Amino acid sequence: MNCLFCKIVKKEIPAKIIYEDERVLAFEDVNPQAPAHSLVIPKKHISTSLDITAEDNELIGHMFQTANKIAQDKNIAGSGFRLVMNCNSDAGQTVFHIHLHLLGGRIMHWPPG
Ligand code: 5GP
Ligand code: ZN
Repeated sequence: MNCLFCKIVKKEIPAKIIYEDERVLAFEDVNPQAPAHSLVIPKKHISTSLDITAEDNELIGHMFQTANKIAQDKNIAGSGFRLVMNCNSDAGQTVFHIHLHLLGGRIMHWPPG
């Protein structure tokens, strides 16, 4: 399997890592769309949100808690932030290893583009 984010997990490709534990990794997006733009990924390979199963429930909750911690560390929790997980082509998913985008530091528009 040739997965970019699995390579980041294995440190075969560099990334600006901001949080890591045994289950998740968080790093800065290489092409930020907001003043704060981090990605939270599971170390386990899951291709899309459609592939999440009941055995991943705790892992997915941990991804959200990690995103919350990063938002607090970056002082954007109170002002607000957006968590996004794109699924498949219409949503613009380009990396097929699930990732939670954490976007903040500016006003977000709705509906999203
Ligand atoms: P998607 O479009 O799949 O929801 O999001 C993929 C995200 O991964 C994009 O925001 C893109 O900028 C980011 N990305 C793609 N390749 C790399 C990389 O090699 N390193 C990092 N840090 N981010 C990447
Ligand atoms: Zn992967």
